[in-house]
Amino acid sequence: MSVSDNLKRIKATIPDSVTLVAISKFHSKEAIAEAYAAGQRVFGESYEQELAGKQKELPQDIQWHFIGHLQSNKVKYIAPYISLIHSVDNAKLLKEVNKQAAKNNRVIDCLLQLHVAAEETKFGFLPQEFEEFLASADFAELKNVRVVGIMGMASNTDDETRVRSDFKALKGIFDKAKATAFAGKDYFRILSMGMSGDYEMAIEEGSNMVRIGSAIFGPRQY
Ligand SMILES: *Cc1c(COP(=O)(O)O)cnc(C)c1O
Repeated sequence: MSVSDNLKRIKATIPDSVTLVAISKFHSKEAIAEAYAAGQRVFGESYEQELAGKQKELPQDIQWHFIGHLQSNKVKYIAPYISLIHSVDNAKLLKEVNKQAAKNNRVIDCLLQLHVAAEETKFGFLPQEFEEFLASADFAELKNVRVVGIMGMASNTDDETRVRSDFKALKGIFDKAKATAFAGKDYFRILSMGMSGDYEMAIEEGSNMVRIGSAIFGPRQY
């Protein structure tokens, strides 16, 4: 199956209200160009240097999303052009994004990454940390970032019950924040959850942004 066939097949399973982010990390510029030619405009990458090379050479109307663990010292490189950062996993990082956004005269859209999975290694705010941070003066001060939603990953397990309950937990956190800290803020509307192996379940549980890599591009190339 070609990249464009895969895209077509996957898009047929995703409602129009759900944004498909094509995760192109470790895939070639040629593969991205093929997806672009098939109409895809939103791509996600995990590594700053890899993204920098692709951003320079590929069409300028691509919307690049950052989805990987982001080190504070790398923010300045993506701040001029990044369209959404999914993986803001601590308060200090959001402050740095705010600082670099200001230097670029931008307001950068961000998702706060929540940790609900079983693995201790996954990054992100714990639900209570998230609520406390949203209520803090530190958060209120940040004028060059706009928190437009949350991102999360389910536990890495074949246990569908666990995966579904992780998605339900993320949806609950999203709904609560929307009704409280972000009440009346229409821009807070993105719930990014679901990857190649679990996106259909994620959509059933309320995801409106899915991050799909291998189901589009095949196994990662390098
Ligand atoms: C790599 C990655 C994906 C895509 O994973 P696939 O299983 O290839 O679809 C989604 N989200 C994050 C955060 C990733 O790092």
